[in-house]
Amino acid sequence: MRAYEKNIRKAEPYVPGEQPQNKVIKLNTNENPYPPAPGVEKALKEMDTDRFRLYPDPTCGPLVEALADFYHVKPEQVFVGVGSDDVLAMCFLTFFNSEKPILFPDITYSFYKVWAELYRIPYECQKLDADFRIVKEDYDKENGGVIFPNPNAPTGIYEELDMVEDIIRANQDVVVIIDEAYIDFAGCSAIELVDKYDNLIVVQTFSKARSMAGMRIGYAIGSPALIKYLQDAKYSFNSYTMNQAALVCGVESVKDQAYFEEGIRKIIHTREWAKEELEKLGFCCLDSDANFIFVTHPRYDAKRLFEALKENGIYVRYWGSGRIKQYLRITIGTREEMEELFKFLKKYKGDCL
Ligand SMILES: *Cc1c(COP(=O)(O)O)cnc(C)c1O
Repeated sequence: MRAYEKNIRKAEPYVPGEQPQNKVIKLNTNENPYPPAPGVEKALKEMDTDRFRLYPDPTCGPLVEALADFYHVKPEQVFVGVGSDDVLAMCFLTFFNSEKPILFPDITYSFYKVWAELYRIPYECQKLDADFRIVKEDYDKENGGVIFPNPNAPTGIYEELDMVEDIIRANQDVVVIIDEAYIDFAGCSAIELVDKYDNLIVVQTFSKARSMAGMRIGYAIGSPALIKYLQDAKYSFNSYTMNQAALVCGVESVKDQAYFEEGIRKIIHTREWAKEELEKLGFCCLDSDANFIFVTHPRYDAKRLFEALKENGIYVRYWGSGRIKQYLRITIGTREEMEELFKFLKKYKGDCL
C-alpha cells in the first residue's frame, strides 16, 4: 500500500441489481412495469428548458408542498432528496452519531451496512426469527438509533403499525427511521405517528409504486426539528441535489391519485395470482406485501435456477449467502411478463425431473 492510501476513506459499495441494456424480462430490481402518471410525460414535453440555465429551487418548494398536502403534514415536516437512497444516506450521516451501535435486522436492505461502514457508525444486526419476522424485543436495548424497512426487503413481510409503534415507543431517546419503500403495496404507514413521536423519521420513494426509479425522488417525513437537521446537513454538502425536471415530474405524479391507486391495485392483483402460480409449481413463497415475492423451492438450487433464468433472458435477484442462500426475489412485472416466467419454470420443471 502506498503511504497516501493509508488515509483514504475506503468503502465496500452496495451492489445494485443488474441493468442490462438489451431487452430482457426484468424482474430483478423492483421497478414498476407500468409507466408513470400521464401528467409526467406531458409536463416533460412541455418543459421550459430555458429554466435549465438557472439553479433549481434548493428548498424543492412545490414538491415539498405537494407531498405535505398529500400526507396532511406541514411543509416543514418534509425533506426531499435524490431517491430514498440519498435521503437515507443523509439520515445516517445526520442522526446516527452515537458511540452506541445502531440496530437493524440481519436480513434487510443491504445498503444500511454500507452506510454504517462508510460513516464509521457502529451497528449491530438483530436476527429475524425462523419465519423471517422482526422480533420487536430485540430492539428494546441500549442503542444509537434504529432503522428497518416496512415491509422488510427482501422478504416482503409487512409488520402491523402496532408492532412498529411498540419499537418506536421503546426507543424515544434515539432517532428511529422506518424505510417505507414498499408501503404503498402494504398497509398503514408510520407517517400517522410522526406527530406523536418527534424522534421518528419515515422515508418513502417515487421509485416503486410511482414508477419513477429513473427520476430519483425520495423523501422523509418527520418532526420539523428533525427535518431542519436534515436540511442543515444537506446544505452543508450540496444545495441543489434535486434537478429541475425531477421536481416538476414529482409534482405531476403526486397530483394524479387515481392513476397511483389503480397502478397499485394492478400490481397487488398480479402478485396474488403469481403467488398461486408459483405455489402450483412447488415454490414456497413468503407472504409479501410488496411488489416482489421472496421464494424458495425444495428441489431446485437457487443459484442454478437464477443462472438458467438469466440465460433465458429473465432477470431475478439472488444473493447467495447465509439463511437466504436458497431464495430468489422476483419482482412483480406485468401479467404477460409473469406468464413468460411461468412458461420457463414449467419447462425447467420438465428438464429437472
Ligand atoms: C428500492 C429501495 C430503496 C431505495 O430506493 P430509491 O430508488 O433510492 O428511492 C430504499 N429502501 C429499500 C428497502 C428499497 O427496496
